Amino acid sequence: MQIDHNELHKFIEALLTAAGSSPTEAKIVTDHLVLANLSGHDSHGVGMIPAYMTNLKAGLLHLNQHVETVQQNGSMLVFDGRAGYGQVVAREAMEHTIKVAQETGLALSALRNAHHIGRVGTYGEQCADAGLVSLHFVNVTGHRPLVAPHRGSDARYGTNPICISLPDTAEEPRIILDFATSKVALGKLRVANNSGKKFAEGLVIDKHGNPTTDPGVMWEEKVGALLPIGEHKGYGLALMCELLSGAIGGGGTIQPGNHRDTRIINSMLTILIDPARLTDTNYIGGEMKAMCDYVRQSPPREGQDNVILPGDPEREQRRLRRTNGIEIDNETWRQITEAAEEYGVRP
Ligand code: NAD
Repeated sequence: MQIDHNELHKFIEALLTAAGSSPTEAKIVTDHLVLANLSGHDSHGVGMIPAYMTNLKAGLLHLNQHVETVQQNGSMLVFDGRAGYGQVVAREAMEHTIKVAQETGLALSALRNAHHIGRVGTYGEQCADAGLVSLHFVNVTGHRPLVAPHRGSDARYGTNPICISLPDTAEEPRIILDFATSKVALGKLRVANNSGKKFAEGLVIDKHGNPTTDPGVMWEEKVGALLPIGEHKGYGLALMCELLSGAIGGGGTIQPGNHRDTRIINSMLTILIDPARLTDTNYIGGEMKAMCDYVRQSPPREGQDNVILPGDPEREQRRLRRTNGIEIDNETWRQITEAAEEYGVRP
């Protein structure tokens, strides 16, 4: 079905409030989820609600938390998300880190123990709003691993996303590169599984390590695994996310000695740079414009669309979905409304 984003926002905000979030928390989480849907990333939109409600009832997601600054050494900060909604605590961690980067030109923060922070590009956009360049390395712990390492036949780590964002210049809108280091995000398999769709080959392996097109293998008893992007290179990036945010950032890695249940805990190592302290902003704008035009003008290969830049697909999806509504499959809608009914909320 197609749902108007304002109507969807009202429903989800009411559900989160009924489940115990303060009005501010409910709004921040809903803004984030609905924007993910609007951006074309249904994997990180309102379809996450049933998992959040399960973790809430199990005491694994804590309501109405604020990020705690564990330590600050100059421009290096460590935050604890207190297992609160990641959409809230990661946003607060970014607010603090942005303030430091604006004072010093460079800041680094390690956020630990945040419940699912959602679409990482949201934080790239938050930093771009402040005129800063940002790099984010994220790992996912607290539950079973999902992605097989290059050459491996079973899952050993999460979908560990990376985001690199550049703020707007006079000539070019912001460039937001934001992706999971697995060929598909688990949420995309959830959406496919819920809609009874098969996946292309080469994205997932089954419990025996063999290629499969059935997204359902990720929910079987002895589960299959997602495959990394870019063979050894994507595996290497994912491992670095794990080690940067989990080991060096102190959030913990997904190695089996650390506790696992069904929670979704993200740790995120962020580096913020004020570009104006490195290079003249007119020069940056001119070079970016010339370089972006240069790549865009590469003639498309046969059967391919025009070259675009990271961030363009999300802008286009927002334009389309704001007008046409957000498509939600029946099974995902059933799961969300079932969760809502428990709190007496109806769409
Ligand atoms: P994806 O495969 O759709 O890739 C998205 C990125 O690629 C964006 O930067 C987009 O602008 C760019 N892009 C897409 N098509 C392009 C093209 N033709 N040319 C140039 N650039 C193009 O995204 P994904 O890997 O499915 O990840 C989806 C979302 O899931 C992300 O927002 C990510 O942060 C989020 N995620 C979160 C977690 C978590 O634990 N919180 C884990 C995994 C993924």
